[in-house]
Amino acid sequence: RTVYVNGEYLPEERATVSIFDRGFLFADAVYEVTSVLGGKLIDFDGHAARLDRSLGELGMSMPMEAEALRDVHHRLVAENGIEDGLIYLQVTRGAADRDFAFPEAGTAQTVVLFTQSKPGLADSPAAKMGLKVISIPDARWGRRDIKTVQLLYPSMGKMMAKAAGADDAWMVEDGHVTEGTSNNAYIVTGRKIVTRQLGQEILHGITRAAVLRMAREAQMEVEERSFTIEEAQAADEAFITSASSFVTPVVEIDGAKVGDGTPGKIAARLREIYLEESKRTAS
Ligand code: PLP
Repeated sequence: RTVYVNGEYLPEERATVSIFDRGFLFADAVYEVTSVLGGKLIDFDGHAARLDRSLGELGMSMPMEAEALRDVHHRLVAENGIEDGLIYLQVTRGAADRDFAFPEAGTAQTVVLFTQSKPGLADSPAAKMGLKVISIPDARWGRRDIKTVQLLYPSMGKMMAKAAGADDAWMVEDGHVTEGTSNNAYIVTGRKIVTRQLGQEILHGITRAAVLRMAREAQMEVEERSFTIEEAQAADEAFITSASSFVTPVVEIDGAKVGDGTPGKIAARLREIYLEESKRTAS
């Protein structure tokens, strides 16, 4: 596999990053994951805009213009022959002598991109079967709107879910669901789609923004507010969204079936609409 590191395209075995990199020592880094379907990027503009925002919130700037970044994505897709898969991008504050204070302005950022081939990404078994989730306390830091690489707690959450025989975890703060370990969380009550309002408590999902826009365009009712696990267990449907899972139904929460315990109609419809429109506008 060819990967991108600081301006160079290299075989992955030859790609290296300093042990003093602040991404490694302090998780002082942000990332994006963009999906690829049919060799094209899904919502690249959304991911580039969020990258710019995440970097800005941490006092960093874009390593290159969005169009140049798109070219890097395209070159990796082409060189690695990616039909369906993901592109991971990480930008760190760079390598400097270990110190909590940020290094001097002008320290070169580290920029890494790599591809992951995922044949059949858009027809995963989870889309048909639905996911089982458990609830866990949200023990992450308070700026979840910045897409940093501090993913240890979400990683532990996935392991807790696995240990409990489930697929994923929904995190709960002050009695209300924030989001999934790597996705945004939704319920459907009546015909209304409910998902948590934006704020510093959750990541502003690029898929979330697209799905809510498409739902409104299809005359579906959307309400942005927080909800409890009890409300979710009593809902007609539940689902998640993310760049890598698109729209995926949730059929069980803490052992309680959602609806009749099978994927819901509205989630299925939204997945269809999302995939159709995203492929049509892919770049
Ligand atoms: N929330 C969290 C915590 C995430 O890690 C992710 C994606 O990785 C999402 C939500 C979904 O965001 P997006 O739709 O931009 O992939």
